[in-house]
Amino acid sequence: MSNTRFSNLDLPQSMLANLDSLGYQHMTAIQEQALPELLAGKDLIAKAKTGSGKTAVFGIGTLLKLNIRNFATQSLVLCPTRELATQVANELRKLARFTENVKILTLCGGQSIGPQIGSLEHGAHIVVGTPGRIKDHLRKKTLRLEQVHTVVLDEADRMLDMGFADDIRDIISHAPSKRQTLLFSATYPKSIAKLSADILVNPVTVEVESTH
Ligand code: ADP
Ligand code: MG
Repeated sequence: MSNTRFSNLDLPQSMLANLDSLGYQHMTAIQEQALPELLAGKDLIAKAKTGSGKTAVFGIGTLLKLNIRNFATQSLVLCPTRELATQVANELRKLARFTENVKILTLCGGQSIGPQIGSLEHGAHIVVGTPGRIKDHLRKKTLRLEQVHTVVLDEADRMLDMGFADDIRDIISHAPSKRQTLLFSATYPKSIAKLSADILVNPVTVEVESTH
């Protein structure tokens, strides 16, 4: 944990109160480095191990940018597996408690597509999912990304290991070019550098070695 408190950031009081209720007073090292850049609107490459608090980095940034009255999807989070997507969605729901009515939907493979289409008809501010199923929905036009302002690649190295590079590029081509793109990864192989160069614009890189 760093010595810096969330209250050092220019965050709404309601969000600070919620973070406090979750037991988050001090930022983790990656949060301390990444959040000011993210809140300034920068694209971001964040390299940090599991358990370092990366979800709150993109969660806080994304939630503050949502227009709740607009039910179009405004944020897309891509994860390698259904388990990780579920974990991320749960953490986002906790972080979203400072405000009402944020709809967060998970769209993963291994689940029937019908109910997902039904949920999408009601709108979802944030979609968290795995690349294969997100691509399916884009192909069917049951998911649209025209109003997405934040794209998150969580555990990007694992997604590339699983062969999702082309799917990720295809998905991102459906989002506006004017957007904020945030890439999280535990490792930074050449394949990630290549992907970053193609989909991020003037990114800031932050890196922490230890877990906290
Ligand atoms: P990562 O994605 O880097 O593996 P997570 O975002 O899943 O890490 O966070 C790991 C754990 O740390 C979660 O249980 C989360 O609730 C907790 N956590 C995150 N940020 C803080 C914080 N600032 N203070 C206390 N706990 C935190
Ligand atoms: Mg994570």
